[in-house]
Amino acid sequence: MPAAYDLPDFDAHEGVHLFHDRPTGMTAIIAVHSTALGPAAGGTRFWHYADSNDAVTDALRLSRGMSYKNAMAGLPAGGGKAVILADADRTKTPDLLAAFARAVDSLGGRYITAQDVGMSEADMVALSQVTRHVAGLPGLGGDPGPSTAKGVYLGVCAAVRRALGRDSVRGVHIAVQGVGSVGGGLVRLLAADGARLTLADVDGARAAALAGELGAAVAPVDAIMSLDADVLSPCALGAILTPDSIAALRVAAVAGGANNQLATEAQGAQLAARGILYAPDYVINAGGIINVLRHMGQGGDAEVEARIAGIPDRLEAVWAESATTGETPAQVADRMAQGLIGRG
Ligand code: NAD
Repeated sequence: MPAAYDLPDFDAHEGVHLFHDRPTGMTAIIAVHSTALGPAAGGTRFWHYADSNDAVTDALRLSRGMSYKNAMAGLPAGGGKAVILADADRTKTPDLLAAFARAVDSLGGRYITAQDVGMSEADMVALSQVTRHVAGLPGLGGDPGPSTAKGVYLGVCAAVRRALGRDSVRGVHIAVQGVGSVGGGLVRLLAADGARLTLADVDGARAAALAGELGAAVAPVDAIMSLDADVLSPCALGAILTPDSIAALRVAAVAGGANNQLATEAQGAQLAARGILYAPDYVINAGGIINVLRHMGQGGDAEVEARIAGIPDRLEAVWAESATTGETPAQVADRMAQGLIGRG
């Protein structure tokens, strides 16, 4: 295995910690990208990787993403991420979780964990019995989905203002890919404002039920990204903006909650070349982490709400600078985030 320093995603991470617990077989990586603004905060992913290099790469990439997301949200938190390397059967035992919690605890608060793919709220509660460095416990931030949806909704409204010059989403046609926790919350908020909605989900029954309830249309999963609409809101998978999918877009803006929407950085320029406004994903989808880290220097519900309500202004600042400098919104957001964490 090459040293983490040699991997392309190594970005002067402050620490990349490899853990192994012999009795339980627990193997985990905790990457601390930056603690410039506070303890490195980010979720724990429980995933089966074909190759441990992939796991290190994931931890490196995701922890940098958390630094940028937390910085742009104005949170007093740095960026980190943990991955637990699951076996092929994804066996998760209480002892394995306890061993992982001891690993988190051994960093003495430099890393604060939260829920991510493969980890449940009950798992988070189990970790909290061993270490206090766990955020988003039930009643203390809990499920981030509704707050993420709220922020994405505000971001879509901002994109509609910027790209279409309209102060309301009433009658604006929005295509939503994925109507789970984030996309489902988003479409309810948009429907309440009178938006015209088309939904697509691999869970066809879920899309149909929501569409029936909200008076929305349903599109096939393979058609949603080339639908003739005003805004595309990706709320399912990452890396969906590829050269081919961008060439087929028929919208004025892309603004959605999915993480890592651009397949590579080059797609930011491709969107710009087509005149399509892009809302950088980690700026628009920060509502969940804002809520999950509510105990960190935030004064309760009002301050959490105010920070989520600031998402449109942060997007506007990115778009305005992009218009001035000619950089893509994704490049501007990265540069702003790097400046905030002292790496300008
Ligand atoms: P979720 O699992 O609740 O919902 C995802 C939905 O997308 C599901 O209904 C699924 O059936 C559907 N889906 C999967 N593949 C699809 C495809 N190819 N086409 C159409 N639909 C598809 O997940 P979520 O929590 O809503 O998260 C959605 C996205 O937002 C993810 O990229 C996630 O990383 C990101 N995100 C989530 C949060 C949060 O608070 N939950 C925060 C930040 C970012």
